Amino acid sequence: MQQPQYITFTIEKQKHIALIAHDGKKKELIEWCKANQEILKHHFLCGTGTTAKLIADYTDLPVRAYNSGPLGGDQQIGAKITEGQVDFVIFFSDPLEAQPHDPDVKALLRIAQVYDIPIANNRATADFLITSKYMDTEYEHKVMNFKESIAQRVSALMQED
Ligand code: PGA
Repeated sequence: MQQPQYITFTIEKQKHIALIAHDGKKKELIEWCKANQEILKHHFLCGTGTTAKLIADYTDLPVRAYNSGPLGGDQQIGAKITEGQVDFVIFFSDPLEAQPHDPDVKALLRIAQVYDIPIANNRATADFLITSKYMDTEYEHKVMNFKESIAQRVSALMQED
């Protein structure tokens, strides 16, 4: 039987938010977290190693730390997105500084796009996201049905010429 191409995922009322900032943007993210502490405290927070530690030290917010970004933290967060364990990302990337782990950064942006995850790359977008009516409610969205896509690919690849 043909499976649907897309399946409905739910971003719960209590969101799993990943916080990441490049060095040139870390202070800005800490300020942003302080300014939005009352909202953020109602959600589950995680982040790349250094960012998570700074936010935990300089705000009253608990933040689960993954590896530092250049040591695979962005990839860990990307993997959590694929597992449905991160559903919201605030990533203050630095557009004026080359990053050694640029491929990992791109991979994270891409996987967030594939899974239709809200992702803010600067403060204005983060402000719009955090004040969205969906912060306080469930949000349903459609994500590609990967099982079906694999089934279609397998059948297409094995078709006789
Ligand atoms: P960091 O990683 O929080 O460990 O600095 C962030 C990044 O550079 O991606």
